[in-house]
Amino acid sequence: MPHALGTNCGTDALVLALRTLGVGPGDEVITQANTFHASVAAIRRVGATPALVDAHDATWNLDPVQLEAASSPRTRVIMPVHLFGKPAPMGPVLELAAAHDLRVVEDAAQAIGARWRGRRVASLGDLGCFSFHPSKNLAAAGDGGAVVTRHAGLVEGLELWRYFGQSRPNVHDLVGLNTKLDSLQALILSAKLPLMDTWNHQRRAVAAAYRERLAGLPMAFQAEEPDEEHVYHLFQVRTEARDALLAALRADGVDAVVRWPTPIPLQAAFADQGWRRGQFPVAERLASELLCLPIRPDLSIDEVDYVAERVRAFFGGA
Ligand SMILES: *Cc1c(COP(=O)(O)O)cnc(C)c1O
Repeated sequence: MPHALGTNCGTDALVLALRTLGVGPGDEVITQANTFHASVAAIRRVGATPALVDAHDATWNLDPVQLEAASSPRTRVIMPVHLFGKPAPMGPVLELAAAHDLRVVEDAAQAIGARWRGRRVASLGDLGCFSFHPSKNLAAAGDGGAVVTRHAGLVEGLELWRYFGQSRPNVHDLVGLNTKLDSLQALILSAKLPLMDTWNHQRRAVAAAYRERLAGLPMAFQAEEPDEEHVYHLFQVRTEARDALLAALRADGVDAVVRWPTPIPLQAAFADQGWRRGQFPVAERLASELLCLPIRPDLSIDEVDYVAERVRAFFGGA
């Protein structure tokens, strides 16, 4: 991308993107009900109203069929999340944005390097946001984030909002943020960036090995589509026996974890939004049925075999 600005973290990248687009109180931003807290928190932090779309039952990304109904005359931005490393349904997102003159801010925190129709995520909309948190696919040794854009016309605004609203030394035009990518983290990321595609490729290989070994069990995997390249920030399996499987795997020394057991609409932080239990049924079910199996670029096939064998044993040695 021709323009990239470092930030303190991915959350700041989202806030900076929304601020730069002038999004604030009275405006609505469409995003999905099943995402990490930060996506929706960023919308609230600028004073805007999140308009949630439920998850799709097979892709676990936003359900494109519900996009139109979530938009209103107050909608300014669509914020698709490339969840778990899988590209969001960008066709319908970009179509709706074009039809209603909306901006698209991609939350690519979990999907750095992923491709949709041969193009990298975060380059598809107007602004793309990354996180370099140590848990992410391209990880700093501490916090970090970035906003990227192909619009030269947005750069001045991004710079202004990023650093104290300062247009010239000692001249502050607005009350901005103070969010920068630390130089030491930038150095570490610059050294790691050339390896990112290799690591993502290795993650895909681990995911493929899991899929092969776990085939036929009463569990589902995140749908993969031929025109995309999922980078498997997380490898999640879906089963109604999630909690029992989690306990069994942890007893066997497998570092399986649940992200995130309480969906966004039911979090206390968003109680003022008036979302009700049952309003986003797919997101709620995913919150109770998804389990992350261990994944790293260097997870060995022996380790994958062990995890798969323990999962199969849980389901009765099937
Ligand atoms: C991690 C994450 C963020 C926020 O990134 P931080 O660097 O932790 O602030 C935003 N959105 C999603 C989907 C994330 O997973």
